[in-house]
Amino acid sequence: MVLDTTTLRVAFAVVASTLGILFYLAEFRTTRSPYSAWWCVSLALFLAGSAALLLGGTPYRWWAEPAGNALLVAGASAIWASARSLRALRPHAGLLVAGPLLAGTAAMLDSPASNPMAGDPAYLALMCVMIGLAARELWLGGLEVSTIRASMAIAAASVSAFYLCRLAVFGFDSPRGTLYNTCFDAGAAALVGMAFLSVASFSMFALSAEARARVLRTAAAQDGLTGLLNRTGFLEGACQELQKIRPGGRQGCLVLADLDHFKVVNDDHGHAAGDTALKAFANACRASVRSSDLIGRLGGEEFILLLPGAGTTRAQEIVASISTRLEAAGTSALFPMPTASYGIISIGPERNDLDELIAAADSALYEAKRRGRNRAVIGGNQ
Ligand code: GH3
Ligand code: MG
Ligand code: MG
Repeated sequence: MVLDTTTLRVAFAVVASTLGILFYLAEFRTTRSPYSAWWCVSLALFLAGSAALLLGGTPYRWWAEPAGNALLVAGASAIWASARSLRALRPHAGLLVAGPLLAGTAAMLDSPASNPMAGDPAYLALMCVMIGLAARELWLGGLEVSTIRASMAIAAASVSAFYLCRLAVFGFDSPRGTLYNTCFDAGAAALVGMAFLSVASFSMFALSAEARARVLRTAAAQDGLTGLLNRTGFLEGACQELQKIRPGGRQGCLVLADLDHFKVVNDDHGHAAGDTALKAFANACRASVRSSDLIGRLGGEEFILLLPGAGTTRAQEIVASISTRLEAAGTSALFPMPTASYGIISIGPERNDLDELIAAADSALYEAKRRGRNRAVIGGNQ
């Protein structure tokens, strides 16, 4: 069976247009992300480029060959732009237009009306460079972010290497030689191109799904009002953190906090004022702890903090700082902020069960309320 170049170019155009439509409808219309926009542009350019090259054997070839080469290199440049936007970087406009211009000009100057391979060395070199640059961008954003991105980088690097081989065989063998015509001609490039576009489109979908899952996971662990961890998010994070506490290793403290007479704030100043107080308490916590500490809202006006590495003295300093900052927030609000009571419990290798720690901190908090509120009580056998 002989697969002629025209048939393969038509197949390439069908694959590029189908992927383009699917990608536009399923991805770009919902995410509007720069990388999906560039990917749609790239598929459209590949489609236009292969359509132009289909006019290769016709009287229009004097303009179709240069236009086809320029459009295909523009498609490869758009892949590079798409890969850059995955790293939140903008493409350099100069590099974006230089490739297509060079490819088109080289073909124009190489008798495109009579030479079916007009400008092909420049075209092959530019395809190799632009897809190679895309592979580099994907790799730099790479493995630590996503294995999907790394596999896309390998696919792009393989296509870039294929164009380099085409260029080498074109130069050292001959465009009419057996090796070029069997393995590296335009038909083979169309087949490689189809495989690459399919792999890359599928990977783009997967990348997007991965990003959406990350956003959902973060939202599911967050308290909507204060932006702190919610109960589930805190318990999950705290379980992981407690597993790191080993005999002789780092210890820490768990703190339960509850706003005093909070109901009065709601009753006297309205529910919105209550919400403001809750947010002010959350901000005071954030400002008082280290970024590696965990802060959660257990529910209502009850909060929980995990302070790895902090002893009870440090925990007392932290809760004092929270209360001071909360009181200070009352000067900008139109009502006085409530005070807060705290139950502190130290964590150690022999006391690191989360449920038991919370129960112990809760008893200490209850004791702080009993002793008159606006204070911290250290629980356990301290
Ligand atoms: P105590 O000093 O003993 O802790 O008294 P308290 O008034 O703080 O505690 P109580 O449990 O009697 O009241 C808690 C109030 O918190 C009741 C509830 O309406 C209010 N509350 C719970 N969640 C929210 C919220 O998201 N926003 C606001 N504004 N109020 C809330
Ligand atoms: Mg309360
Ligand atoms: Mg309460």
